[in-house]
Amino acid sequence: MAPMLFTGLDDKVLAVNDAFCSMLGRPKEAFFGPDLNAFTHPDDVGITEEAHTRLMSGEIDKVSYVKRYLHKDGRVIVAEVSKSPARDVAGNLLYFIVSERDITDERALTAQLSHQALHDPLTGLPNRLLFEDRLSQAHARVARDGGLGAVLLLDLDDFKSVNDTLGHLIGDQLLVAIARRFEKVTRTSDTLSRFGGDEFLYLAERLSSTSEAEEIASRILHTLAEPISIDGLLLEPHASVGVVVFDGTSSDHAELIRDADVAMFEAKRETKGHHVVFTPMMHQQVARQFTLLHELRSSIGGRDLAMHYQPVVDLSTLGIIGFEALMRWQHPDRGWVPPTTFIPLAEQNELIYVLGSFALNEAACVAGDWVRTTGPDVAPYIGVNLSARQLHDPGLVAKVDEALELSGLAPGRLIIEITESVALSDITVTSRVIEHFDRLGIGIALDDFGTGYSSFSYLMHLHPRIIKIDQSFVRPRHPSARSDALLETIISLGAKLGLTVVAEGIETEAQLRRLRSFGCELGQGFLFSHAVPASDATELLAAQRASHAALAP
Ligand code: C2E
Ligand code: MG
Ligand code: MG
Repeated sequence: MAPMLFTGLDDKVLAVNDAFCSMLGRPKEAFFGPDLNAFTHPDDVGITEEAHTRLMSGEIDKVSYVKRYLHKDGRVIVAEVSKSPARDVAGNLLYFIVSERDITDERALTAQLSHQALHDPLTGLPNRLLFEDRLSQAHARVARDGGLGAVLLLDLDDFKSVNDTLGHLIGDQLLVAIARRFEKVTRTSDTLSRFGGDEFLYLAERLSSTSEAEEIASRILHTLAEPISIDGLLLEPHASVGVVVFDGTSSDHAELIRDADVAMFEAKRETKGHHVVFTPMMHQQVARQFTLLHELRSSIGGRDLAMHYQPVVDLSTLGIIGFEALMRWQHPDRGWVPPTTFIPLAEQNELIYVLGSFALNEAACVAGDWVRTTGPDVAPYIGVNLSARQLHDPGLVAKVDEALELSGLAPGRLIIEITESVALSDITVTSRVIEHFDRLGIGIALDDFGTGYSSFSYLMHLHPRIIKIDQSFVRPRHPSARSDALLETIISLGAKLGLTVVAEGIETEAQLRRLRSFGCELGQGFLFSHAVPASDATELLAAQRASHAALAP
């Protein structure tokens, strides 16, 4: 039975049925006496009265409208109202017949559906669809009124590794926590949305200069300065931001988002955790990198990719005690492409896993041969570089085990060099992998020591056996008493902690003398040898053996 009531010419209630009473949660008596307005949402008293006035005036003979009532328990009830007059045979107005329908749930569902269609279920932020709609409105506004707007694409650095190592549940919680932080600095005129995965889009409106957009980028990045605690884990996420500024003449919104993406890519390539403003030049750079990546992929398995070996020497005897394996790529047109160009490129991609396996297998194989040719007592150790991302490869441990097994190399002869680019947030996982290596007897070297911002915390957490002093300390651009003091301090720090210290990038006798005087035991550098192909490295070892043999009594 539909809720119904009769009202008089003054719109006071004459009769109500049970359905109407239960719709408002009130007994019948409640409606006789007070005006129906007493149960009407204050904002809807106006439409109720207006409908009544129009019916009374004879202007219309039936009215339908939606109004809100107040339920006894305080809830708002949305009702669809149909009201028409009852007349006697002479046509005189007697009373009104009002029939109603409770559409509260229907309305809520529609609202929820449209919210769902336009919002990201995880963070509750506007989704891509709503963002694009706001962007095209903003674009039109700028075209009409002038001024500037900006699109900022925020991409979390190394977020995949959080998901891979800590699980999606933690990953999701982290995303929500980050969204809340970003929200805090979102201006009311702007829109923050989740673009999907670990990407957020920010639309900034009413700007007067590019630097204002940059200020917003800095403000957003600054929200990640404090670590985020999730389930007792202290995470330090970072983000890279691509910024594109638009005016009324700018291209359509799809292109704006693409440009922001290009700038973001550029931001990640430089150093993570900062922002870059888009310039048209960037398109060409991205195209070049894309080609390079494609060529690198197709060179795998061919002869263009090779491992070269640079000797690590005892600085007092200059005898070779190990080698570092360094990857080389000979491009068919460009010649040798340095690893500093192609490794970061591969790191943005699953390709780094393939390159990593290649390096590991090649190097272990060559080092295994050295053990067989020189005998186990004097065989050199082999250092293999591992990219931060490889530490998050769930298959890494198996790959290392396999490389050792295939080559017959004892784990004690393998050193894994890791750089500090691993975000601190990942340190728990990194430590687990490293502990495993440690148990096997594989050595861990902290590469480029002193250049990362977290060198000391790495010393604390990763318990490396070796630190490799970065070249910038060995060959400072402006040598001074201060740079000497720094170098000496790092060496004695290593000694105090019982670590083996290797100096990188020794090019001159003077640098060698200085390192010796500071007590540095091991080093590598062009002064001794560049990285050379395996066969040349084997010859260097043979020559060393021959000279030892000649000196032997
Ligand atoms: P790194 O591990 O710190 O390697 C030392 C780099 O310094 C090498 O550059 C080496 O050739 C160079 N070097 C050695 N002695 C001297 C010197 O006296 N003077 C100068 N100016 N340079 C010297 P390279 O081979 O270009 O490698 C650069 C970086 O690329 C490496 O730094 C390492 O981080 C990365 N890399 C190289 N091979 C691999 C690899 O197989 N896997 C991974 N993940 N990274 C690699
Ligand atoms: Mg290295
Ligand atoms: Mg290094």
